[in-house]
Amino acid sequence: MMTDTLSVLVIEDEESFVEALVVGLKREGFLVTVGRDGVEGLQLFDKVRPDLILLDLWLPKKSGIDVCREIRSRSRVPIIMVTAKSSEIDTVVGLEVGADDYVTKPFRLRELVARMRAVMRRSGSSDDEAEPGESLEIDGLSLDPERHEVHLRSELVPLPLKEFELLELLMGNAGRVLTRETLIDRIWGPNYVGDTKTLDVHIKRLRAKVEDDPSRPARITTVRGLGYKFETPRN
Ligand code: CA
Repeated sequence: MMTDTLSVLVIEDEESFVEALVVGLKREGFLVTVGRDGVEGLQLFDKVRPDLILLDLWLPKKSGIDVCREIRSRSRVPIIMVTAKSSEIDTVVGLEVGADDYVTKPFRLRELVARMRAVMRRSGSSDDEAEPGESLEIDGLSLDPERHEVHLRSELVPLPLKEFELLELLMGNAGRVLTRETLIDRIWGPNYVGDTKTLDVHIKRLRAKVEDDPSRPARITTVRGLGYKFETPRN
């Protein structure tokens, strides 16, 4: 297999646009996978581990902004946001969602490919195989998104899915306060209508597994009135 075969994940719901784009990108030598909405896009991201993502701003089920943030919380894969109007770019930039570049529809394939190569060069991933999910390690606690494993001082800590996702989100944003709303949104989805105590229950279970003294948490701390924070080690 040629090492310069790059895989691109296109997350886009506009059928006519997708068809032309896929044909064009394949002709340029890319391996192309297409997700038709935000949720499918995220699933495909985990499955194919693309070298680059072309992400439409307006998508069914989950917006491009949310998809971008979610991917950024666990990977540095280059992301190019695709917007319908140049004024939308300002919105995306203003929200600091973590995209590497932006293009406005309609665009010429040649221009897009040039930008794709540029962001991949900048990220240094153009010669790599699919970019692995970044492992996180903080103060003896490590989380491997690829293997879906957490170790505390090399001892495996089995975690149910939601607890794993919650820990991944917290560790990926270590040192930053994540509000209750953000955490609930990102783990249970924006339409979650259940008990708000669910978050606290999950935090409590996580602490029982990753804290040396769960009654005095040192890793996952409570920021009163705001949310939770994963502490970075003090030296
Ligand atoms: Ca769209």
